[in-house]
Amino acid sequence: MRVLITGGAGFLGSHLCDRFLAEGHQVVAMDNLITGNVANIAHLSGNRNFHFVHHDVTNYIYLAGPVDAVLHFASPASPIDYLKFPIQTLKVGALGTHNALGVALAKGAKFLLASTSEIYGDPLEHPQREEYVGNVDTIGPRGVYDEAKRYAEALVMAYHRAHGVDTRIMRIFNTYGPRMRLADGRVVPNFIAQSLRQEPLTVYGDGAQTRSFQYVSDLVEGAYRLLMSDFNEPVNIGNPHEMTILQFAQVVNELTQNPAGIIYKAQERIKGDPQTRQPDITRAHTLLNWEPKVDLREGLQRTIDHFRSVL
Ligand code: UDP
Repeated sequence: MRVLITGGAGFLGSHLCDRFLAEGHQVVAMDNLITGNVANIAHLSGNRNFHFVHHDVTNYIYLAGPVDAVLHFASPASPIDYLKFPIQTLKVGALGTHNALGVALAKGAKFLLASTSEIYGDPLEHPQREEYVGNVDTIGPRGVYDEAKRYAEALVMAYHRAHGVDTRIMRIFNTYGPRMRLADGRVVPNFIAQSLRQEPLTVYGDGAQTRSFQYVSDLVEGAYRLLMSDFNEPVNIGNPHEMTILQFAQVVNELTQNPAGIIYKAQERIKGDPQTRQPDITRAHTLLNWEPKVDLREGLQRTIDHFRSVL
């Protein structure tokens, strides 16, 4: 296959480039580099099956030659980033998804949307099944991301129904691993960077809010299996192992032997920060025979080693 990966220089996009190349496919990575980084794909520069295009996908995408699959991963994905780039976040979810779907339609390619657990908002159903329609504050600070992704899902289903494009919607829950930006503001890089500097970990609010963290290789496997399936409705891809942010901080401090403890920063918690989040992965398990394989301590240790090498 020849695969277009938008956001290909980002955290998830670059890992997908690696996987598709390893499977023998050709990869075109496209990125405007506002949150992506060429360092994530520098190791691929000599690979003749790999090609990088510096382009903002909110503008028309011209790509010569055949394309068999489009994976649309371009978007800021950290709350700090989408507060900093609110309009770009809305545009890449709306215009970027439209252009990427246009490529899929023109080339007869499959299409996979990187959607998100954020479409469930601050969920009133727990754990979250794909049937749950969510609880999103349209005008809150997180609304730019949540609504962009909700619009993107609607657009994907419209292209599927109206144009017959063979589409997939992957709802990604919190994912971590090497190549996350040290300063991207999300809890995993924040806590690891703080712990390696022997600083207290900044817990926002009271730390009772929960998340369920998935290691990046599990996500890549889920994306690959979903693309190769024939299922057009949304599929949650995440690790159901749920914990409070306080418990998570304690694990990071233990693994890094950080003596500095934690510090509460109540005012840093962004309005609408979901109180709970846990995927129901029955659908992925049934359809794709997929489940996460990497446990939290193992994945965190690999991520800590990575951050130690870049600090
Ligand atoms: N968080 C925290 N300290 C930090 C960064 C984040 O306590 O330094 C909390 C944040 O308030 C949220 C959770 O960790 O409840 C996960 O935040 P993240 O930014 O990683 O992504 P989200 O899951 O909210 O999209």
